[in-house]
Amino acid sequence: MSTTTRIDDLPLREELRGKSPYGAPQLDVPVRLNTNESPYPAPEDLVRRIAERVSEAARGLNRYPDRDAVVLRTRLADYLSRTAGLRLGPNRVWAANGSNEVLQQLLQAFGGPGRTALGFDPSYSMHALISRSTGTGWVSGPRTEEFAIDTHAAVAAIREHRPHVVFVCSPNNPTGTAVSPETVLALYEAAQEAARDRRGALFVVDEAYAEFSHRPSLLPLIEGRPTFVLTRTMSKAFGAAGLRLGYLAADAAVVDAVQLVRLPYHLSAITQATAHAALEFADTLLGYVEELKAERDRIVAELTALGCDVTESDANFVQFGRFADAQAVWRRLLDHGVLVRDNGVPGRLRVTTGTRAENDAFLDAVRAVMKEIA
Ligand code: PMP
Repeated sequence: MSTTTRIDDLPLREELRGKSPYGAPQLDVPVRLNTNESPYPAPEDLVRRIAERVSEAARGLNRYPDRDAVVLRTRLADYLSRTAGLRLGPNRVWAANGSNEVLQQLLQAFGGPGRTALGFDPSYSMHALISRSTGTGWVSGPRTEEFAIDTHAAVAAIREHRPHVVFVCSPNNPTGTAVSPETVLALYEAAQEAARDRRGALFVVDEAYAEFSHRPSLLPLIEGRPTFVLTRTMSKAFGAAGLRLGYLAADAAVVDAVQLVRLPYHLSAITQATAHAALEFADTLLGYVEELKAERDRIVAELTALGCDVTESDANFVQFGRFADAQAVWRRLLDHGVLVRDNGVPGRLRVTTGTRAENDAFLDAVRAVMKEIA
């Protein structure tokens, strides 16, 4: 007799029962603008350089990789020093398999059962999901109607909940909105004040989309603030989502702390070699970012001209609406061969900036759908 075991039949942790995994649909359609990837494949010179560095690494695969990825962290520190306004050494940078793993390590070290994390929704859904999977309580803080963080309301939420970890995503996914350094500092101070009796609160600024912003990086704010952490990724600006390389910059003590929870040899020699090659091509890849920023601004302007309600964007994607039934519009755009993202923000959808041709196809599809639903 064959029976099918369902997830609820398993001795699963209670807090995971009835929950869904993270899941942006991976559909095979002509124009895929739903997961904030770069539309540009790696240039051939970079592909060749990766092959060279990976071959070199392959010769040593009988050995475990550099456990602390010191050379890679040095290159990442150099990149931040050069582009983000603060000179850093490798002791202040940590790397893992995507910034998701960095966030998980931070919550393993600074969250956990009996502790609480607070973020400002709608924001990157993995902040709440990783909190839950590490046993950390989640509190959803407020945003304004325009998806900004109101300093006064946010400080009040921090004072009320006294979180152990605070997440600020800037530029924010899925809205595209950036947060000013003044607001970030006010929230940081409030979080430290509210947690004064327990050595402060970890304050995480997720800058996954920093390179696409009209504003400078918030990196210099980590200086002199030992609980202030900034996270970054090579998935977006470096066009390397498939590589799985994320990193953080913080006080050296935070880097020591995440080493208490990281798995030994978590970053494969192949990953380290590939990331190293991509960093050698940073200037070329940042050139693509400039093209994407111009295209992003064009999407904002054209959607606005079409009569959409568009959220100002500092990222490589644009939130637009307002639709009576966003899910129905999502479906219709898909029927026109264009996949965008429904993040569950009422009346809104999110489109990732693609190539010029993809963006034209998206804008044509929006024009057609707006006629259909008019
Ligand atoms: N932070 C934000 C705000 C994101 O949007 C994403 C990816 N969508 C990540 C972190 C995780 O990126 P990765 O794990 O690919 O570095």
